[in-house]
Amino acid sequence: MPRAVVALVVLALFGMLRSAAVADPLKEGRDLYKAGKYAEAATKLEQATREDPGNAKAWWQLNFAYNKLERYADALRAAETAGRIDPTYGFASEPSKYGETVARLQKKAGSSRRGALDRPLLEKPRPSEPPLDNSLVRQLSSSGVYVEPGLNIDKDRLASVIRELRPTRVMFLAFNNKAGSASLTREADRVRSYFGISDGYVIVCSRAGVAASSKSLNRDTLRELTRQVAPQMEGGDFTGGLERLARGLVATRQAQTARTRTTAATVVGGMGVLVFGWVLSRRIRHKRTMTARRAAVDQARSEIISQMNYLEDSLSAAPAAMAGTVKQARLDAGAKLDEASRLIVRARSEYDLTRAQRLLDEASACIARGRDALEGKTPSDSRGADRRGSPPVYPQARVASGPDTDWQAVPDSERGVCFFCSRPSLLSELTPVTVSLEGDTQRVLACADDYQRIKSGEPPSIRAFQRGGRYVPWYADDEYDPYRDYYSRGYGDRSLLSDLVTLALIDRMFWDWRTPSWTWGGGHHGGWDGYTFWPDHHHWQDYHVERAASSSFNHDRSDGAGTDFLGGGFHDGDLDSAGTDFLGSDDS
Ligand SMILES: [Zn+2]
Repeated sequence: MPRAVVALVVLALFGMLRSAAVADPLKEGRDLYKAGKYAEAATKLEQATREDPGNAKAWWQLNFAYNKLERYADALRAAETAGRIDPTYGFASEPSKYGETVARLQKKAGSSRRGALDRPLLEKPRPSEPPLDNSLVRQLSSSGVYVEPGLNIDKDRLASVIRELRPTRVMFLAFNNKAGSASLTREADRVRSYFGISDGYVIVCSRAGVAASSKSLNRDTLRELTRQVAPQMEGGDFTGGLERLARGLVATRQAQTARTRTTAATVVGGMGVLVFGWVLSRRIRHKRTMTARRAAVDQARSEIISQMNYLEDSLSAAPAAMAGTVKQARLDAGAKLDEASRLIVRARSEYDLTRAQRLLDEASACIARGRDALEGKTPSDSRGADRRGSPPVYPQARVASGPDTDWQAVPDSERGVCFFCSRPSLLSELTPVTVSLEGDTQRVLACADDYQRIKSGEPPSIRAFQRGGRYVPWYADDEYDPYRDYYSRGYGDRSLLSDLVTLALIDRMFWDWRTPSWTWGGGHHGGWDGYTFWPDHHHWQDYHVERAASSSFNHDRSDGAGTDFLGGGFHDGDLDSAGTDFLGSDDS
């Protein structure tokens, strides 16, 4: 024979083997059923259920084939087997179909072949297969052990193993024949399927082999485990071998489950790390965004400051009639600017910065109004301008204030008090400085004297009065009114100011103050977290009204926003930390 022919024959044989190997009796059965060949379909589907007894779909399909063949009892058993394997009836096109089908078959089976139901489920008995008969089913149902006579197997011991391994279901079958592992495997599958054991094991042995059926362990594992006990059983210790196999199956399954759990735990742990990383990256992103936005807002802020300086510089050249409008515009812009600056310093979220930006925009609008006035344009809101049109009265506006100043005649918006010595002053005479009180930074106004003292490095002092053995800062003393008392009490001469104490002392005093014998201007609020001033207090407005603080920016153009003395001998204020609001403008 020529080689080519041999090769062709080999190829053809190989192809046949291949097609046989990949043959799917379930699919073939279905196709035959669709083609109306019900007998062939039933044969194929029977084969499918034999090869894969746990396949509910095969059993379900078989029920239809039997039904067409009017084998209603067989159809009913096939349908019920499917239902036992998969109680969710996932094999049916709709779960309700199962109930309908079974009910219909019960009716038909009852009228035709009564009694067939009692027959245990089986196909044509195969020569190598022991039949699944009634006594076998009965014994398995009661004890889980079926041992054919003539075998030296301790049924009681196996029964106790079964009890021990609960809730895992285990069954032992021992046949007194020489069935090989292939048929034993089929038998084990058949029994497991019959009893609907999904999470459990059926172990079958003969005098020549041992096999196990399980849905939770794969065939390789089952084969390996049976191989391990085979020598023991070959040596005659059937009971020991079966017991070992049962325990091995359960232990292997537990180990696998544990591994799965460990994997799951690892996955969960990994997710935790991921979530943590996500939170962290969000924080980093937030910080970056904040930094970027802060830079943008800072830029806008310094532009406002230079524009305000421009307005201030242009003021002297402005027509007298316009000066008031310009000045007011600058003042308004300053108020917005100061508010924005406070927000920027304390900003925790983008929302804070958005608010700050809005304030800066408003400040910009104020400045535009001032510019329009400078350039002789009619302000768009002429009514508003008219209202402020006549400039406020500034008695001796360009003259330094002093003991003779009539403070009643000075508008509130132009009045101020030195935070330190309490000297009443025009705002234009005061310089904003930043101090730290218990870690909280505040901008306050300083008179020229105190400004110089602080700038030269002297620790700042503050006027305080002895009250009940303690120092009370001047603004917390309701008997003291700087406008009325500062000069009349001879405070004009600094050498007489024996009641100035260092700010640090006051600082501590704020903290230690636990007996608020007065209610004026401040006191406790909600536990003790520092001394809080009510924002509506008039002295507070005098030394730290926002408008007052901002209107004095021009005194310190070098850094545009006042001089900071943080860390210069007293508290290192963390500009970025929130903390208690010293001025009580928020809930702290
Ligand atoms: Zn002062």
